[in-house]
Amino acid sequence: MGFRFRKSFKIAPGVRVNVGKKSIGISAGVKGARVSVNSSGRKTTTVGIPGTGLSYQKTEKIGGHAATDKHDQTAPEYTPTVDLPPIDPQPPRPPRTPKGTLTLLKVLAVLLIAMSLTLTLASVVGGFIGTALGCFILYYRRTRIAWNGDKPPRCRWMVVVAVLFVLLAVGGKASPDPAADATAEQTVQAEQAAAEQAAKEQAEKEAAEKAAAEQAAKEQAEKEAAEKAAAEQAAKEQAAKEQAEKEAAEKAAKEQAEKEAAEKAAAEQAAKEQAEKEAAEKAAAEQAAAAAAAQAAQEQAAAQQSETVYITPSGKRWHRSASCAGKNAREVTMDQVGNRTPCKKCA
Ligand SMILES: [Zn+2]
Repeated sequence: MGFRFRKSFKIAPGVRVNVGKKSIGISAGVKGARVSVNSSGRKTTTVGIPGTGLSYQKTEKIGGHAATDKHDQTAPEYTPTVDLPPIDPQPPRPPRTPKGTLTLLKVLAVLLIAMSLTLTLASVVGGFIGTALGCFILYYRRTRIAWNGDKPPRCRWMVVVAVLFVLLAVGGKASPDPAADATAEQTVQAEQAAAEQAAKEQAEKEAAEKAAAEQAAKEQAEKEAAEKAAAEQAAKEQAAKEQAEKEAAEKAAKEQAEKEAAEKAAAEQAAKEQAEKEAAEKAAAEQAAAAAAAQAAQEQAAAQQSETVYITPSGKRWHRSASCAGKNAREVTMDQVGNRTPCKKCA
């Protein structure tokens, strides 16, 4: 019999790939029913009731007739054949990490490591912390890839990073050391010179500030003088303006008075003309009345002339009444009465 080897991978829900010493196979199904096919050309069908231990299994050659029929009612447990893996589910795998996240992690880690290695030249501790963090991110990314099942985690690059770190740390530390020893005394002198320089600069600065303050005061005074002159000029202009306004007002009052006088004269003239007009109208009316009276008198005279009266041939009077004139009376108009006088009785 010798040793046995078998390994089972889940590639999809309910689907497994089985690798054995002699063959590779694929099986699909659910709890209680499963079909397996392997590279030896055998197909195995298993139907069972989960938990009871009761199952039916049939193995046949693909393209041929059934090789084995097995009714397994006595076995207390379901025993798989060489090609059929146990149906029990493996623990669920965590979800795959997306490719974008993996790429982002790589870019971040490489950038961090590059910056930290540069920083190592100046600060070993800071460089170490940054480099270690970058390495951790890279290692974490590797574990994610391993979970995805793509590659096993390998960390050979860590050796390269560690060597670089040591070289840069030593190089960075070596360069400033000799200079520090040689310049210890020079540093004191330089500090003293710097202090003197600072004092000198301070004095110059104060002098400059004083000059600036004087200049500012002078400018302020000039500004105030200019403002005062401007204010006086403004007051003068204001007075001139008021004088001009006053004169204008007086002129306007005078013109107003003249205008009113002219209006009054015009009104008087108009009243006079009105009176004359009325007098003329009155005269005209009187004249018309006189004319009318004259006409009326004339008409009356005419009417009197044409009035029918009675006379007698010998009588010295004219009568309005025919009976008063007597039996010789004859009818005439007034213009025919001659020098006869009216009858004292009827006319
Ligand atoms: Zn008479």
